[in-house]
Amino acid sequence: MGKTFYIETFGCQMNVHDSEKVAGTLLRCGYESVEDPEQADLVLYNTCSIREKAAQKVFSRLKQFGKVREKGKLFGVLGCVAQQEGEKIFEAAPHVNLVVGSASYSNLSRLVARLEQGERRVSGLSLDTEETFETEFTRRDHPFRAYITIIEGCDKRCAYCVVPFTRGPERSRTSASVLEEARQLAGAGYTEIQLLGQNVNSYRDPSAARLSFAELLAGVAEIAGLRRVRFTTSHPRDFGRDIVKVIEAHPALCNHVHLPVQSGSTRVLHRMQREYSLEQYLERIEWIRNACRPISISTDIIVGFPGESGADFEETITLLDAVGYDSVFSFQYSPRPNTAALHLPDSIPDEEKALRLRILQDRQRSIQLGRYQSRVGSVEEVLVEGRSGRGDHRGDQWKGRTTQNIVLNFSALGAAAVAVQPGAYWLVRVTEAGPNSLIGEAVQGPALSSTVAAAQPVLKSPFRIL
Ligand code: SAM
Ligand code: SF4
Repeated sequence: MGKTFYIETFGCQMNVHDSEKVAGTLLRCGYESVEDPEQADLVLYNTCSIREKAAQKVFSRLKQFGKVREKGKLFGVLGCVAQQEGEKIFEAAPHVNLVVGSASYSNLSRLVARLEQGERRVSGLSLDTEETFETEFTRRDHPFRAYITIIEGCDKRCAYCVVPFTRGPERSRTSASVLEEARQLAGAGYTEIQLLGQNVNSYRDPSAARLSFAELLAGVAEIAGLRRVRFTTSHPRDFGRDIVKVIEAHPALCNHVHLPVQSGSTRVLHRMQREYSLEQYLERIEWIRNACRPISISTDIIVGFPGESGADFEETITLLDAVGYDSVFSFQYSPRPNTAALHLPDSIPDEEKALRLRILQDRQRSIQLGRYQSRVGSVEEVLVEGRSGRGDHRGDQWKGRTTQNIVLNFSALGAAAVAVQPGAYWLVRVTEAGPNSLIGEAVQGPALSSTVAAAQPVLKSPFRIL
């Protein structure tokens, strides 16, 4: 075996996809991928620093290797912690050789070449860039769903958030290059595409075509072979009615919008520098709820932001009831370096944050259970992802996802037992509901199979079927 690398990813889908591009770049440079860090010549951690706990994870990983330093083994820290801590990482973990923030990934092959030539400490930390990380050498780690970055960085300045400091300024890709990548993926057999960005709907086409985000969505949705197009994350401030209209007009656009609210109190939203009020947020919810298709809505919420009173928190709970989210990602506020919220008075004690989080999650659990139970008896189309963890004496258990991005575990009996395959679309009757997923029985399929595995060139996709 020649040179080998191992990469571990922490954090969001943006990071997962960045790792796919980093892996593709290294494969192109002659490296081979291994699944065990012990066997790798180059061990990379693609890190997340959105909350303090996430940032600490990488240092505990690095410690595991600090003691056993094999000759010649190289370590790299990539992503948000790399950008945030910079060359201090070399002091904290002296066995680290490479520190690269995401805004410098387009230089990655040159930085790795310097390591190979014998330099012991190499960094890429400039945020002063207009470039996006575009590479045709992307290793695709998911067999049916492919990610496409349309916008990198963030120009908003939410008072709690490190992203503008760790990912740099907003840079959009040209619409032509996004559409070309989507066409290539459809040609390779992918049927589900997810467009990614910290704020996808802040997209600004830098080319003469000047497509709006909604026009770009339409362009992707019209590509032959694509059956499901998702996009995440949408910022409420930039969420226009045109996005709902384009979902209504294009069946390939999934019935799901992730629209992070963060708080149900306008006073807290103002302190968070979110640049919208609760009323403006609810107006957008109304546009979505009035669509001709039933669009599912999910959100992110932070509890215990400095100065959040009991009454502010109550407003967030009221919002949960008013909107009826199908899923909520909720977090305790975590103070982050460089952010404006560090200087706000009235911090909330950790025990109070934990209590509010528990109350919020309990409330959402019962809302979700009610919403999911109302689906019992309906027939949903799922994209089959693989076997389900649920053991069941009735036959094969499979896991799929509905267009609303809800997990539907189902059994396939009789002829269906041998016919269900990962990557296929099946119609499934919902028979039971829990707070986090649905249970059902296969009715009919496959409506359309994914043929990805047969179609992909090797460099582009050494699949790991999950
Ligand atoms: N750009 C998206 C938006 O503005 O809605 C969110 C992207 S951020 C990577 C994902 C989520 O992490 C945020 O929506 C927020 O709920 C959470 N988050 C960010 N900073 C946080 C902090 N300091 N403490 C707790 N949660 C945080
Ligand atoms: Fe962070 Fe706000 Fe930018 Fe989202 S919009 S990435 S929460 S700064």
